[in-house]
Amino acid sequence: MRITKENPSIPTDEGTMLGWFANAIMAGYDHAKNDGRIAKLQSTITAQEGLLRNAREENQCMRETIIQQERIIDRLRRNSLRLATNYKFFEKGGRTTYCRYCGFTMLSGGDEKHQDDCPITLHTQLMNELGEKHA
Ligand SMILES: [Zn+2]
Repeated sequence: MRITKENPSIPTDEGTMLGWFANAIMAGYDHAKNDGRIAKLQSTITAQEGLLRNAREENQCMRETIIQQERIIDRLRRNSLRLATNYKFFEKGGRTTYCRYCGFTMLSGGDEKHQDDCPITLHTQLMNELGEKHA
């Protein structure tokens, strides 16, 4: 209103009116274009949030599986340690020591060398993989 009072020729000037309509139309076009971009970005964000939620759920499942498997490994380790003790036995009446599982003759003070498939060999390998000393 103030503008038309100060410039009464504006409403009747064709060039000014064409410019005004063109600006209004372009503003609407830009607005619609931006709305499309915003909608596309919101859709992308929603999809990314879904992927993130799935990844978190999968991560939680994996953590629970790891905890469960660590408990099983711990039980197996304790069980194998128990089985791996007292594997030496003396021949009746003799002084020679044998491995109860593979029958290997153990020399006093020497390194033990069991058969490749002896449970003591397998136990020792597993303990090495766990970074623990064989009992
Ligand atoms: Zn053995």
